[in-house]
Parts: sequence; C-alpha cells; structure tokens
Amino acid sequence: MLIVTSISELQREISRVSPSQKIGFVPTMGALHSGHESLIQRAVTETDFVVVSIFVNPLQFGKNEDLDQYPRPLEQDKAICKQLGVKLLFTPSVTEIYPSEEETTIVNPPTAMTSVLCGKYRQGHFQGVATIVTKLFNLVCPNVAYFGQKDAQQVAIIKKMTKDLNIPVKVQSCPIIREKSGLALSSRNQYLSSEEKEKATLLYRSLSKAQRAFQEGQRDCQKLLQIVKEEFRSPQTPLNKGGLNLDNSLNKKSLNLNDSLNKKGLNDINIQLQYVEVVEPETLQPLTEISDSALIAIAAYIGNTRLIDNVILTVTKPIIALDGPAGAGKSTVSRRLARELGYIYLDTGAMYRAITWLVMENNINVEDEESIASLVANVQLELLPSDNLQIPVTVKINGQDITKEIRTPRVTNQVSKVAAQSAVREKMVALQQEYGAKGGIVAEGRDIGTNVFPHAQLKIFLTATPQARAKRRLIDLQNQGESNIDLDTLIKEIEGRDYLDSTRAIAPLKKAEDAIELITDNLTIDQVIEKIKSYLILVQS
Ligand code: AMP
Repeated sequence: MLIVTSISELQREISRVSPSQKIGFVPTMGALHSGHESLIQRAVTETDFVVVSIFVNPLQFGKNEDLDQYPRPLEQDKAICKQLGVKLLFTPSVTEIYPSEEETTIVNPPTAMTSVLCGKYRQGHFQGVATIVTKLFNLVCPNVAYFGQKDAQQVAIIKKMTKDLNIPVKVQSCPIIREKSGLALSSRNQYLSSEEKEKATLLYRSLSKAQRAFQEGQRDCQKLLQIVKEEFRSPQTPLNKGGLNLDNSLNKKSLNLNDSLNKKGLNDINIQLQYVEVVEPETLQPLTEISDSALIAIAAYIGNTRLIDNVILTVTKPIIALDGPAGAGKSTVSRRLARELGYIYLDTGAMYRAITWLVMENNINVEDEESIASLVANVQLELLPSDNLQIPVTVKINGQDITKEIRTPRVTNQVSKVAAQSAVREKMVALQQEYGAKGGIVAEGRDIGTNVFPHAQLKIFLTATPQARAKRRLIDLQNQGESNIDLDTLIKEIEGRDYLDSTRAIAPLKKAEDAIELITDNLTIDQVIEKIKSYLILVQS
C-alpha cells in the first residue's frame, strides 16, 4: 500500500493506474471501525484499485462542533487499510486541501436537501461535505465511490450532486454496520461512556419499533413518528428514566456540559431527541403517507454526544410466478395481469431474444459459446413496462431500443441455440432476480417458482388438460385457415411436448410445492385473472 499526503503525488499515482482497471474510492475522516471496513472490503471485491482518503474536513464542522476533539488514530488506520488490501491511502493536511487563506469555492447542493434533517441543525455542513467530496472525486477519478447508508442524507446529496454536475462516478451506498446491541458504529461512539453507550441503543430500538409497525401495515408517517417519540418518552423502559429532554429546538444550555458523565448512573444521563422525520429517501422531502419507500432518520444527544441513525422502509410489491405447460394461457394471462396491476411483465423470452439479436449484430456465430459468454458478461438489458398488449415490454440493450428487432424471424430462428447456453442462462436468471428484488413483477415460464424466484409471494401453476389445450389450439388453427388437423393428433402433440418440457435438462417444467394449481379448462381469461387477483389479496393481507 502506498501512502501519499500531497495532491501531486496522489495525481501521479492515479495517472499510473491502467485505464482498464476500475478505481474504487472510500472517502473517510479516519478513526476507522467495522463500518468503514465494510465499505473498503466491498470496494476491494468490486474494483481493481482501491483508494481510501482520511481527512478530517474542517469545512463540514460548525463553530461549536467537535473538530479539535475528533479522533485521529492515523497509525492504526494505516494498518487497517493495508490489511484490507487498499492500494493507495491519501492522508493530506488541511493546508494541502485548502491552501489559501482566501475563501474557497463552495459546492452548494439544493437547499431543499441541505436544509432538512441534520442540515437544520448543522448549517453549512453539507456544503462542506459536497465541496470536499467534489475535490476528492476530481483528484481520484473513481469509477465507484462507496458511502455508508449510516449518513443517509449525505449519500442522497452526493448522488444528486454527481448527477447534476455530471461527475462520472457510480455512488454506491452500503448497509449500516451495527454493534450487537443495535447501536450504529460511529467514530463518535468513542466519546460515549459505557453507560451512555447502553442508553444510545435507544436510537435503533425506537426506529426498529416503528419499522415493525410499518411491516405490520402502518403507513401513516405521523403514527410512525409517534412510535419513535413514545419510545424516547417511555417511563417503563428502565434505560429511559430521568434526564430525558424532548425538546426539538435543541437548547444546548440544557445539556450538562460540565458534568462528569462517568460518575453518573444510567438514569441521570441526559437524552435529547433532536429530530425524527420520515422523508422520501432520494429527495429527502417529508412524507405523510408511505406508498413506496421512506427513510426514518433520527438525531439525538446522548449526554454531550450527538448521534444519528436511520432505517429505510420499503413497500415491496410481490413477485407473481406463473409456471405451467405450454398452451395453458400463461403468456396471455401474465401480460394482462401485469398491465392491470401496473407491474412489469418479466418477458424472459424477450430477454433471450435480445441477447440473440446482440450476438447476431456482433457477427458472432450462435454456437460460439466463449465469445457469447464474454458478450453477455457486461450487457445492459432493460425491460420497461408497455401499455400495448401486443408488445408486452419495451426492450433496450446497451441503451438501444430493440423491441421490434427481437421479433424478426432472423432472431426467432436462432434464439433456442443461444438460450441453451449456460453462460447466457446464468446471466439472464441473475438479471431476472435483480428485477425480482424490486418486486412488482409477473414472471412466467417453467421453473420460475422453483428456480428463478423460489421466494415469490404468489406462485401459480397454470394448467389445463391436454384435451382442453388441444381444443383451444384447434380453434386457433381453424381461425388461421388450417382445417386438416384433427383433435387427437393435437392431443398427442401436446402430451409429447409436456413430456419433453418436464424432462428437459435445462429448466424443466416443475410445479413448486407451494404453488396454487389453477386448472383453466372451464375458465375464461377474465376468470383466471380474477382468481389470481383474489389470491394476491390473500397473500398481501
Ligand atoms: P466518516 O469517516 O464518518 O466520514 O465516514 C466515512 C464513510 O463511512 C461514510 O460514507 C459513512 O457513511 C461510512 N460509515 C460510517 N459509519 C458507518 C456504519 N456504521 N456503517 C456503514 N458505513 C458507515
């Protein structure tokens, strides 16, 4: 690991990194703990050249804040970085970063984001953060920068800033690391006495209580806030007795600044809730009702130490997995269901078609598995909802709309050869699961409920007897002007296909144990849809 303290050395080292290498960057103020370590570890696994900065940025500290007191165990931090596989550590002095006595340029993110939550109580803080992060991004030129969700407002502001200023970096937020007690790790936890540390668990405990209420269906933000405030007020919680001051416009004088906290018992420690708010996680604007996702953020003083914490609440829409034999109506039902529910129809066929199109577009032989594997490794494939039942999804590959191109006979003729390749299938299943993580999708196939989404909230095995399916097929064929096919031949064909589908090596047709079997012999499409919707209500309640 190389350690540099000057901007010129840093720039020289960065210029030596090969353009083919991905630079991962973790900006910190040092006093590294497991929270920081989790960011560094992620950067090390996801990128090729990891840069960490340690700089206690005076610009983000207010006049009465803890700039001088902030812990600076540099030698220990260096050892941690080295051990984790950091390639370059940047530890500049204040004058290196802010050389002139003159005023420096300040990056000013939208006031709507900097004046809420912590911004209300820490004027200039986020402008200070935005300024140093912009400077560091310009110096390090990272591909990915890692930030902790612990500082939720900071991540939201940095994401907005990089987007608005077209800074070419991916801002990756990482989960909060906590002690066993639930207390979020923070360099400032060092200020806490052991009694205060115990009391500090109140932050996460109160958030968890609101989170449980949310999981049980509470969507009213005032009610969720009440739960947190109640927990801070609660006399029955032994930890909370005495010393509690619930004053939102924090009056510093009310803190026992001169008391020796160590001498105090648990009940004498002054706890002050500074704010608790429910906001939209990206824009940070207040919410009254949660329909999608929300951030509950909290700041409180435990003794003289100000701590922050938060939880993200997400209303995940379910995944509906529809499996079943060919001809049972899966694709018609899935498309209509997705449209009526406002979900995405996960058109897996379209995904394989898109890859096939890309293979042909790159003049790669459809049997050349190696070239196809490297082609799919970095592919960007998007499915966007469509209002048109004939075109169930809009398909984009590497940003290009190819919705029409994938339906041409040229692609249709080759798709099965490409779809049979394991690299393609693995990538497509991973992509499908990424969509699934967001929820609100209808997916159909043969192994969706067993293999792709084994945890889908609603699994339907849509089937019909071979006789019923053959009759439907016969009507279709007659409508297309074909009249010399008889029902028995069609029944045999369908039985043969069912056998092949349930015994094939890749993705065999299988009913998940927890799937609801829906036999559509005597049902119209409308009736099938109504039945599935009623099952959906049951799983959601
Ligand atoms: P700091 O040194 O406090 O500026 O933090 C550096 C980075 O570490 C920021 O992106 C923080 O959000 C992140 N971080 C701090 N504490 C934690 C934690 N407990 N879990 C995850 N990330 C954290």
